[in-house]
Amino acid sequence: MPAKRILVLAGTAEARDLAATLLAEGYEVISSLAGATRAPELPPGQVRIGGFGGVQGLIDFLKSDEIAAIADATHPFAAQMSRQAHEAAAVAGSYYCRLERSPWQPQTGDHWLEVPNAAAAAVLLPSGARALLTVGRKEISAFLLRPDVSGIIRMIEPPNIAVPARWRLVLSRPPFSLDAELRLMEEGQISHLVTKNSGGSKTAAKLDAARQRGVPVVMIARPMKPQAPSFPTSTGLALALRQLHHP
Ligand code: NAP
Repeated sequence: MPAKRILVLAGTAEARDLAATLLAEGYEVISSLAGATRAPELPPGQVRIGGFGGVQGLIDFLKSDEIAAIADATHPFAAQMSRQAHEAAAVAGSYYCRLERSPWQPQTGDHWLEVPNAAAAAVLLPSGARALLTVGRKEISAFLLRPDVSGIIRMIEPPNIAVPARWRLVLSRPPFSLDAELRLMEEGQISHLVTKNSGGSKTAAKLDAARQRGVPVVMIARPMKPQAPSFPTSTGLALALRQLHHP
């Protein structure tokens, strides 16, 4: 019997690890990337790149490629893909589950201001704020509309909109060390850190740096994702899959 085929919705470091774990278990793995990053780090196994064309496109893909299960390892803020995958899996008869890292939690000494989205974060910043924005290149426009706010915008790849001169653009890829984060906040005279609650260790040093420097954190809460089995580790997800589908 051919190996069961699993579609891993990727775009995160965890998705690469999940693809390796499932391959080692004997599954056939197709990892899917949105194609948003120009030089993505590719997972092991088969890779496909680009959107599916909405829910119907994904239903067609699941059926034609005989996908037994979708393992959704997209970023916690990739809400649309998760919603569509959940819906498509139900129609196509594929199992759907998620690999999901825990959100960050405030610690003693933190001063977090939690907001539902980037627009609310931009409104909350006081006039004259010097912000360090680490919200991704698609979420910066609301902040650029504030002529009275400046600072540093950090992202992996350049934005597709012009950034006014009052902002310094820093292009770099995680992980970031605590020393580097402290230096960046000092150099930029940062008064507020703005971040999405992505969770994980690779970008957590900015929260430690903010705590040490007494910088308030404007924390954008995670969007809702569909109710579905969810696992914090690749091994936990692989175990659950094995109980349902022998490779
Ligand atoms: P999104 O808003 O949830 O999805 C937008 C559209 O992009 C989807 O409707 C789908 O197009 C396509 N898409 C998204 N993920 C895909 C995947 N893994 N494979 C194939 N198509 C995909 O997603 P997003 O927030 O733009 O994120 C895009 C990718 O970047 C995701 O893979 C995510 O894991 C990664 N990422 C996102 C963030 C973030 O903060 N949002 C951070 C780091 C990494 P169709 O409707 O045509 O199928």
